[in-house]
Amino acid sequence: MIYLDNNSTTKPFPEVVDVMTQFMMNRYWNVTSAYGQLDGMEETVESAKVAIRTLFGATSDDEIVFTSGATESNAWVVSEGARRAKGCGWVLSSQMEHPSISEPLENLSEQGVDVRFVPITRDGTFDLDKLLDLVDSDLCFASLMYAHNETGVIQPLREAVCLLREHAPQCLIHTDATQAIGKIPVSFFGDLCDVDLMSFSGHKFHGPKGIGGLVIKNGTNIQPLIRGGGQQNNLRSGTLNIPAVMGISKAAEISNNLIENRKHDDVRKIRDYFEECMLRSFPDAFILGKQASRLPNTSFFGIPGADADDLVHALASDGIVLSKGSSCSSQSLKPSETALSMEYSYDEATSLIRLSTSLDTTIDELDALLCKLGNYI
Ligand code: PMP
Repeated sequence: MIYLDNNSTTKPFPEVVDVMTQFMMNRYWNVTSAYGQLDGMEETVESAKVAIRTLFGATSDDEIVFTSGATESNAWVVSEGARRAKGCGWVLSSQMEHPSISEPLENLSEQGVDVRFVPITRDGTFDLDKLLDLVDSDLCFASLMYAHNETGVIQPLREAVCLLREHAPQCLIHTDATQAIGKIPVSFFGDLCDVDLMSFSGHKFHGPKGIGGLVIKNGTNIQPLIRGGGQQNNLRSGTLNIPAVMGISKAAEISNNLIENRKHDDVRKIRDYFEECMLRSFPDAFILGKQASRLPNTSFFGIPGADADDLVHALASDGIVLSKGSSCSSQSLKPSETALSMEYSYDEATSLIRLSTSLDTTIDELDALLCKLGNYI
């Protein structure tokens, strides 16, 4: 199989599987039990958090709360946004958010909360001029993503957050950084120091599925989404999934080393090689967000006249795995909402395919894809 759908999910690093197996087999007790305390499980969890904080430059004062993944983290922050918007104030997001943000926000809007969406430019970034027109001091919650799951476009988040802080100083600011973390350097302490909350997910950077979290900036108050036994400082009840915590921590440690050693430069080179060859073979083809700063592994491209559904299925039967956009919407026949918001036509949007590589992807694999595309189109 040639796996080119890494924005959907990634293969766990072998070290992740090893550490999880060890904890499942040998240290399966509950952190809060007397035996867990004797065995130093709390300290083990704290040291696991160090690797995770390092991956996205959070400080030891910033809280990390483990959740079942970014969908849960996003649902949690939207419910906090709703609480803050009660009575007065309004909520801001963008036209390109992942469904785990846009769907709960649509639901809030149906319940009468004032939710506004900043439009996006043809390049696939938030429109900062329109953002400036929108924002006022009644804004109480904003959620803006960091890197887009389909186009891979890295958003001008620092500029957007500066603008929000200037015009709505009390606003609670969240970013969904699920696609950025593990692929580009992220700094919750540097560039994102004015962000209050950040969502992440283990399976996007070669960790396990079913675990992610929310980073909470020191001093930010947020009500729990899941109440119960009071685990994780009363912020997210439920028995902590230690094997998954150890797995995500190992994935964070390895990903951080790879980023520090600029391994993603190679990923970018082969993505660029693919795009060059593809444009040579299909001169009418177009690539969304090509002029913008993008994740090194992502290419969201369309070939006029091609039907993405048919093509993705034909390639899958040849053992080449890609998707026609966000995996969450790939079951639907509707084309990418983001592409339509970027003012691509309906026909153009129905031809879009997302390639998302990993450090394991080789030129030979991309040549095999190019060859198959040549056969099918
Ligand atoms: N946000 C973004 C930007 C994503 O790409 C995804 C995964 N497709 C999610 C949130 C949801 O993540 P999870 O699978 O961990 O719930």
